[in-house]
Amino acid sequence: MKSYSFDQEAKPFATLTIDFEEALSEGKETSFSIAYSGKPSQGFWIEEYQWVDIDPDFMILPVFSTLEDFEYKIKASLDNANYKLIDVQKGSLSREIEVTSNTTSYYINPILASNNQKNGLGLYDYSVDGKEVRVFSEYADSARYVRDAALRIFDFFNSTFAREEPVTFCSVLYRPIPYHEHKVTRSFKPSVVFAKQHENTATLAHEISHFWWNRGDPLTTEKWLTESFAQYSEMMFIRHEQGEERFNMIIEKLAGRAEKLPPLLGGDRFGRYGDALIYEKGPYILSQLENRLGYEIFVDFMVAVNRDQVATTGHLLEVLEDQTSADIRKEFEELLKR
Ligand SMILES: [Zn+2]
Repeated sequence: MKSYSFDQEAKPFATLTIDFEEALSEGKETSFSIAYSGKPSQGFWIEEYQWVDIDPDFMILPVFSTLEDFEYKIKASLDNANYKLIDVQKGSLSREIEVTSNTTSYYINPILASNNQKNGLGLYDYSVDGKEVRVFSEYADSARYVRDAALRIFDFFNSTFAREEPVTFCSVLYRPIPYHEHKVTRSFKPSVVFAKQHENTATLAHEISHFWWNRGDPLTTEKWLTESFAQYSEMMFIRHEQGEERFNMIIEKLAGRAEKLPPLLGGDRFGRYGDALIYEKGPYILSQLENRLGYEIFVDFMVAVNRDQVATTGHLLEVLEDQTSADIRKEFEELLKR
């Protein structure tokens, strides 16, 4: 590298900037190392949590704007004996970790280190009927709750849209932290970072569903192929566990909101309506499609979307036509444009 600078006043975090000797050309690699020697309170967490959280996606590397053509591998190790690294991908606690990017997805897991002596974080490993759930948690009760929920979610998804590609393993970092301090709940197969209260099984279902629903350009509203399908999977799970009435209440709410929104596709993913479109209008449109097709054909359609690894709305419409008819495709296209 040519030089580096460190701006302690930068917001929201102090920022380290590294300049390389020359621009990296395509296919070329470089490596550099960073030693972090601060206290937890000097890292990304307030001290009481006893965490160090180094998130390569959003905090270290500029992948968000260049994720189409940027790959990286990070090796992390610790020299503080009180801390352990949490390898959420493998579901293990260790002194060393290697994180590899998986372009074009920017959903890789953060590098997390925890002072297990102080915050009591443990690894709870459960196996039942060939399925395995590993939960990292400070609380044994929560770990059991999360495990039970995850197993029920496995069973439901595996018997519906995931039946051709069932899930039998996941690891969950259960880290409930007040929303205003840190709101990241995320998923990167086969792991989930779950930051809400443990009884929020709907969110856990949403995140686990991303093991399948993880496609479509994340920088455009095509991301509805990821988020609207995950949100609708979550709602299907709620219907499965809590009944039709609760499900219908949610749909009604979504219908009210969807009415006021511009068309699902073509807008600015990061604009005023970006999130509402893919988390509210998209799932509402999917509920209309389910109504039109009936439950079984709708689930068959979801299975086919996974089988064909659909990554664009155009492809999705072709699959829909294959599974149903040209008329239904046309009707659905109208919903997308409305
Ligand atoms: Zn999601």
